[in-house]
Amino acid sequence: MKRTPLIAGNWKMNTTVSEACSLARAILTGIESADGVEKVICPPFVSLAPLYEILAASPIKLAAQNMYFRPKGAFTGEVSASMIKPFCSYVILGHSERRQIFGESNEIINSKIIAAFEAGLKPILCLGESLEQRKAGKAVDTVTGQLLNCLVNVRQTSELVIAYEPVWAIGTGVNAAIEEVCQIMEALRAALAGMYGTGTGDEIRLLYGGSVTAENTASYLSQPVIDGALVGGASLDSNQFTTIIKLAAAVKNT
Ligand code: PEP
Repeated sequence: MKRTPLIAGNWKMNTTVSEACSLARAILTGIESADGVEKVICPPFVSLAPLYEILAASPIKLAAQNMYFRPKGAFTGEVSASMIKPFCSYVILGHSERRQIFGESNEIINSKIIAAFEAGLKPILCLGESLEQRKAGKAVDTVTGQLLNCLVNVRQTSELVIAYEPVWAIGTGVNAAIEEVCQIMEALRAALAGMYGTGTGDEIRLLYGGSVTAENTASYLSQPVIDGALVGGASLDSNQFTTIIKLAAAVKNT
């Protein structure tokens, strides 16, 4: 099954609106013709509308970093799917920072995935084990458990994207070994096939995230089980992020 590679840059709580506009312009200039790779940037909420204008006629799509599952109402500080939909193709859900800092459970993330699909947004569902869980030999069980619980009653799956991001590799400079990532990807692919059948399960893209840089991109993406990357820190550097995109195009389209 041929899946289009995807590189997404998660800017987290970085960039003012004016910095976001400059960074997006620099990335747009730098990508040249990296065809065959889907390119997504995930700025803070306040930059979605201005970046939508800048990127409208470009091959770069936008994702929100989060959303709430209720359609509207007394939820101070939250943003609904219908509010981000005019600007975004994707939405990151279940990032480990949301789980750890803001206490999001698999049940909440499940509700968000259902609401995102209902609004026509494609979720990028993040999964990953802690260092303790990995050391205890529970990485595969933890991640497949998160997958099953986050996808309860989720029928619409082919547009789902999964990002495997071991918590201990996010923002630490510590990379997961290729074999560790491949083992998890194979377990996720098997779990998806069990849930949705091999046809639909095979269409879902599996990204790796965790201290991805221009230096290590090629070694991850040369693995057929890894369909792309969710990039945090390195996506704030336009040179590095565009290099990652070009490497993805070179590795995956040869
Ligand atoms: C992330 O935030 O999803 C991430 C993977 O961050 P970093 O690339 O900085 O580890």
